[in-house]
Amino acid sequence: MELIDGNLIASTIVAELKSQVAALPGRRPCLALVRVGEDPASVSYVKKKEKTAAEIGIESRIILPPVTIPQADLEKLIDDLNADPSVDGILVQSPLPKPLDEHAVFSRIAPHKDVDGFHTVNIGKIAQEDDTGFVACTPAGIMALLARSGTDLAGKHVVVLGRSLIVGKPVGLLALQKKAGANATVTFCHSGTRDLPAITRLADVLIAAIGRPEFVKADMVKPGAVIIDVGINRVTDVSKKTGYKLVGDVHFESVAPLASKITPVPGGVGPMTVCMLMQNTVKAARLARS
Ligand code: NDP
Repeated sequence: MELIDGNLIASTIVAELKSQVAALPGRRPCLALVRVGEDPASVSYVKKKEKTAAEIGIESRIILPPVTIPQADLEKLIDDLNADPSVDGILVQSPLPKPLDEHAVFSRIAPHKDVDGFHTVNIGKIAQEDDTGFVACTPAGIMALLARSGTDLAGKHVVVLGRSLIVGKPVGLLALQKKAGANATVTFCHSGTRDLPAITRLADVLIAAIGRPEFVKADMVKPGAVIIDVGINRVTDVSKKTGYKLVGDVHFESVAPLASKITPVPGGVGPMTVCMLMQNTVKAARLARS
């Protein structure tokens, strides 16, 4: 069994992006990070993004509207960033506090600056196999982990557990694309799927993104399968100072000995998300210059 080390792969990509940015003509790429309110998790995510951007040489512009900002004002702020030629990418940190309409805000971002890849146009471009779009960071990270761990999907049966718009659907569509590294046969499973273990046992590559702690057990996995565990779940653990630990959607202890390759939680898919955001920002900067 080989452990797919997301921290190592992410740091390699960060180093590559750093040299790509150094070679870009003109000004540095610029990422606008919009965080509404003071939600502690959002504060820490935005800090991490700012730190990684600085490491690569990407300028971050941090915008901190108050939690009381009206929807119309937030949309006006996005319009201004869309029109600002010195901004390459825009990220609005999710979740937005209520009653703000997150979908309307994400849809307001110009598709060519939508480095989070949540805009309908960018989701559609995955289906059209149009590489000029931006792929959402988690599915992009999963594909990068597979490619860089030497897992060619061609002709393989990829089973995706979960059909969310930010993980399950896009990653399945990416695996399905008629392209090098992809070209898989893809099955999507969800809460309405009958006899799930019979399907997951057919998977050469199993991607679990359901948000159910340690749901995938050994009897659901084919020996030799590649396992990508996207889940991040907090479960009570009184032995920890925090009182909880993080586990994936896969029961690592029983599944790892069967797998040919597997991602740990934490340290697998998680670290890839921020570096894919940076990759998208560098791509946006490059497209803006071409
Ligand atoms: P969602 O809640 O949006 O979607 C979950 C999906 O899983 C749904 O399609 C749902 O089916 C399906 N599902 C739920 N329970 C079952 C079940 N018992 N059997 C089969 N299918 C089931 O979750 P996300 O896609 O946003 O996230 C999934 C997991 O990935 C979470 O743990 C999340 O924390 C993690 N995550 C990790 C990231 C990272 O960077 N590593 C980034 C994003 C998410 P249905 O459609 O029928 O309801």
